[in-house]
Amino acid sequence: MKAVVFDHYGGLGVLRHRDVPTPRPRAGEVLIRVEACALNHLDLWVRQGLPGIPMPLPHISGSDVCGTVERLGARVRGVRRGMRVVAAPGIACGWCEFCRQDRDSLCASFDILGLQRQGGYAEYVVVPARNLIPVSSQLSPVEWASVPLVSLTAYHMLLTRGKLQRGETVLIHAAGSGIGSIAIQLAKWRGARVITTVGSTAKIAKARRLGADHVINYRTADFAKAVRRLTQGRGVDLVFEHIGPATWQGSLSSVRKGGRIVTCGATSGPDITMGLRYLFAREVTIAGCYMGSVRELRAVLRLIETGAVKPVVDRVFPLRQAAAAQRMMASRNHFGKLVLHVTEKQGH
Ligand SMILES: [Zn+2]
Repeated sequence: MKAVVFDHYGGLGVLRHRDVPTPRPRAGEVLIRVEACALNHLDLWVRQGLPGIPMPLPHISGSDVCGTVERLGARVRGVRRGMRVVAAPGIACGWCEFCRQDRDSLCASFDILGLQRQGGYAEYVVVPARNLIPVSSQLSPVEWASVPLVSLTAYHMLLTRGKLQRGETVLIHAAGSGIGSIAIQLAKWRGARVITTVGSTAKIAKARRLGADHVINYRTADFAKAVRRLTQGRGVDLVFEHIGPATWQGSLSSVRKGGRIVTCGATSGPDITMGLRYLFAREVTIAGCYMGSVRELRAVLRLIETGAVKPVVDRVFPLRQAAAAQRMMASRNHFGKLVLHVTEKQGH
């Protein structure tokens, strides 16, 4: 099969579009013919190497897959050849204490598709059958591929961990990011008031169309001051944080006394510093969030099926142009998801 692989970590130049062996499904697994695979910021970190996380080399990135079932491994039930599915990107054991509580990402054997396992920048990918979720033809494969990782994480952050309530105010960073574009819609569906940020004036109208009540251009205004003004000095109930050091201090000063910060990512770097006195004296709760469960993904995909939340796809690239797609992602000039369209060639 054709795939985009890298043999060692590095810049965009390490990505190669070439032939690799088609994987074979083992017991409990299914071979998926990939129709589309979305990019995530994670792919850039993976390509540069993540210390302490073992990854198979040569490596195939890609955590967000939509495709059709091609072949079943032994002991697979409830899955038919040809059925269109999305793959839940988090792979867990399914029976440990955390899996039984629907906290898949705390499972000792938790792997992410395209990180510890070979992903979807390829014509075929192998996924455990329990990770497959059938989808309708309501959306195209490109649209379906754009949703799993970001919609799951946004749902887990806002609803499960952040406990966002109707009438509350939430600050969601980066409306133009894949996760921001879904989080805004989820928060509006939940009945919250949404304040969001963008990095250019061109993105303001797009953020409003997603339902944001207030949009702050963080390049021309101090977002934390703007949040204070918009909330009459009170601060927001919940901050949806996925940026890291570039926004952390502002996020902390944007949250109200007794408010919550949920965090799932660190696109601007892994480390922050903060004043502990400010944190404890204001009784702020910080909740770490790491993707979510297959069950939560089913719930958010149902919302997408009903049209309550719509995928936001900025641009589609052919598989062989994965490097160009990653370059665009690094530039932050996009609004919504970048997706690889994988050729629909038959045969192995
Ligand atoms: Zn488990």
